[in-house]
Amino acid sequence: MDGKELLERQRTYFKSGATKSVEFRIHQLKTLKKLLKEHEDEFNQAVYKDFKKPELEMYATELGILHNEISYVLKKLKKWTKPQKVSGTLVNFPSKNYTVAEPYGSVLIIAPWNYPVQLALLPLVGAIAAGNTVVLKPSEITSHTSKAIKEILGKWFKEEFIAVVEGGVDTNQDLLAQDFDYIFFTGSTRVGQIVMEAAAKNLTPVTLELGGKSPCIVDETADLETAARRIAWGKFVNAGQTCVAPDYLLVQSGIRDQFLEYFKESIRDFYGVNPKLSPDYPRVVNESHFDRLNSYLEEGKIFCGGKTDRNELYIEPTVLVDIKKGGSVMEEEIFGPILPVLTYEELPEAVNIINSKSKPLSLYLFSKNKEAESMIIEKCSFGGGAINDVLAHLGNHHLPFGGVGSSGMGAYHGKQSFDTFSHTKSIMKKPFWLDIPFRYAPYKGKLKWIKRVLK
Ligand code: NAD
Repeated sequence: MDGKELLERQRTYFKSGATKSVEFRIHQLKTLKKLLKEHEDEFNQAVYKDFKKPELEMYATELGILHNEISYVLKKLKKWTKPQKVSGTLVNFPSKNYTVAEPYGSVLIIAPWNYPVQLALLPLVGAIAAGNTVVLKPSEITSHTSKAIKEILGKWFKEEFIAVVEGGVDTNQDLLAQDFDYIFFTGSTRVGQIVMEAAAKNLTPVTLELGGKSPCIVDETADLETAARRIAWGKFVNAGQTCVAPDYLLVQSGIRDQFLEYFKESIRDFYGVNPKLSPDYPRVVNESHFDRLNSYLEEGKIFCGGKTDRNELYIEPTVLVDIKKGGSVMEEEIFGPILPVLTYEELPEAVNIINSKSKPLSLYLFSKNKEAESMIIEKCSFGGGAINDVLAHLGNHHLPFGGVGSSGMGAYHGKQSFDTFSHTKSIMKKPFWLDIPFRYAPYKGKLKWIKRVLK
């Protein structure tokens, strides 16, 4: 079935009103939760085949996040779907005012490969909660996971409600040519531009969850040992293939050497002296990403790591110092287990480096200095971030997650997902018993009264 036929079928189903009742949505979310449990091994095996992701990371960063989100949404959904009262205003006295969240209709979700289950199904939770039908396109790069998602979801959901479409660029282009009611895209900034251009033709609203270079600052007041451990975890989990991973470090010059020693120690503690043998360290997803990452290794001095094996798609957790000028490693999003480290003397210098680049998806600061915290939050624009940790903000469903500028537009997670996939309809209701005549012609003598109210 091509994109056009699929959308027509979903639209007919949506128009039947089947997806709108809150009971239906709750039932479907429970179904999703159930299938995640029943097929946990299949999801684990598929992602393992794609890039050797360990089981613990699968649960902590994919399946567990999904379970947690669904549980939260199930708890809140009845409240969110009720009309929300808002205040009236004097101009329209007397009136009752409220908003109603209505589903957009048929939405398209396009997912990337790096957290191939979570990033496909987390937006799906929001789309179901809001009462939409969904066409979901997982990434062709993680082909085992894409196949598993199609097979498993196909067993549990009717295609007119949730359809998984596998395929590459051609499939995406076919889908993007259709008149969906909403498009939710996660992926690169480059493809984000293509998606937005296609959406503009039908005036389809979009959420774009994109990438970029997320900086991480460590100043001299930080607890260096803890900072090193947390950053090493956030950089090398998923082998660095994380949109919010610290892309590069800005370390205050006086503490660089001490910090890097702790950092090296953390890598050894996590993955042993030879991370290639560790069952806890994943691989790079394919040859082209391997080659791209491998080329960065020549753009600085290797402080630790640096070993690679193309046959195994293995790149050792690597720290680069003394970065050469004019290379790509400080221009492109790294998206792999290589961490360039720059130094700065005073914080404004670090702010200038960050602000000379596109607005990042995330920013991290390790510091005990409150002024440093205020300066970073005030002077740098970024999607979201954490003080004294990395990645952690993403795990709190009370914090909307999304980028700004070239790192994206719109946000999701928790209530924000429900809002993202709903149109907020505003309603004012008036009684008949009072009809103040100021707005009606003839206008003579009425302006002064209107001016008294509208000021
Ligand atoms: P990508 O942009 O290459 O691909 C994403 C999706 O777009 C895939 O489903 C792919 O099939 C499709 N696609 C690729 N080329 C296309 C084209 N020419 N036309 C239409 N569709 C096309 O991204 P990726 O390599 O899968 O993922 C990595 C990128 O995603 C990184 O930049 C990363 O930072 C970003 N990312 C962002 C988030 C976030 O939440 N903000 C999360 C994960 C990844």
